[in-house]
Amino acid sequence: MRAIVYHGPGDKRWEEVPDPKLTDDTDAIVRIDAATICGTDLHILKGDVPEVTPGRILGHEAVGTILETGPSVRTVREGDRVLLSCISACGSCRFCRAGQYGQCLGGGGWIFGHLIDGVQAEYARVPFADTSTYKLPDELPDEQAVYLADILPTGYEVGVLNGRVQPGDTVAIVGAGPIGLATILGAKLYSPAAIVAIDPVEARRNWASAFGASAVATPEEAGGLVHELTEGLGADVAIEAVGIPETFEQCTALIRPGGRVANVGVHGRPATLHLESLWIRNVTITTGLVDTFSTPTLLRAVVAGQLDLSRFTTHRFPLDQAMDAYDIFASAAETNALKVLLTGSQAPQ
Ligand code: NAD
Ligand code: ZN
Repeated sequence: MRAIVYHGPGDKRWEEVPDPKLTDDTDAIVRIDAATICGTDLHILKGDVPEVTPGRILGHEAVGTILETGPSVRTVREGDRVLLSCISACGSCRFCRAGQYGQCLGGGGWIFGHLIDGVQAEYARVPFADTSTYKLPDELPDEQAVYLADILPTGYEVGVLNGRVQPGDTVAIVGAGPIGLATILGAKLYSPAAIVAIDPVEARRNWASAFGASAVATPEEAGGLVHELTEGLGADVAIEAVGIPETFEQCTALIRPGGRVANVGVHGRPATLHLESLWIRNVTITTGLVDTFSTPTLLRAVVAGQLDLSRFTTHRFPLDQAMDAYDIFASAAETNALKVLLTGSQAPQ
């Protein structure tokens, strides 16, 4: 088969590799029908994720069709159309028993395109198929379902649920990339009074309005706008969806006494926690890696029309043009790309 293979910083290739084979009894082999590229894949290509070693197939967001299952797999079978989640779950360790699949001790967690071969390929080996795939209803197209693999549960669990968004809240979302936009969609389920999206890039602020933000601001304007909307108190919830020290610090500055800061961004550098001003304000700060425990809930909400995922795909390429797709995604500032969809050659039309 062919796949996108990482060969060290700055070096990825679309090349011939051996077909995946069942290795554990709980594995399935899946034909990839749709996959997408994540900002994390770009971090890997910069060499920021040293656990990813040369020769690794990239990708952790996909939809596919089961071709073969190991002898212990009971709930999915050949021909089933499934979501491949960015988080795999052994299903039986302490953390999986508590729904904290991201912390799985039994060989799951974020493994695709990280610790094992990923899904930007014609086929993939899927460990723990019973507890790591989700059967998809026919009416949900691949190009929407694929966003349930990572961005939607991330924004929902690590942003909206950790931040405990409530009706009537003023929610500040810092960063309007795919994760920030998915967070807007998730926050709307709880009918907050205002969602303020903050991003320095005008095109991203326009996306935020299209996804349902009630107001948008540049980082410089944000403090004044939130002050105005909340009679000077600050936001009830501030969600960090960028991953740099400045935006975490801005969230702790935007929050009201008793409010909640939910950090979603992946940070590579330390940020300053201003305890000298925060200690007296009863602020709750949460962090997290997505667990994807909410995937079945979100799947039902999408099918019921409560979440519209149709806007995320800005560009489409056949899988064998994945190299071009990476170029478009990596230059989002010029191309205005949000998510680039890769479609498998054998995908049904
Ligand atoms: P992205 O890079 O596409 O988007 C980031 C956005 O932040 C861009 O629109 C950019 O213009 C904006 N931005 C830059 N500087 C800013 C500033 N000073 N103030 C406000 N906005 C600013 O990234 P993404 O794919 O949307 O992901 C966002 C973050 O979430 C990343 O750090 C990613 O690694 C992380 N992430 C976390 C998890 C998790 O489980 N916690 C899962 C997936 C992704
Ligand atoms: Zn586990």
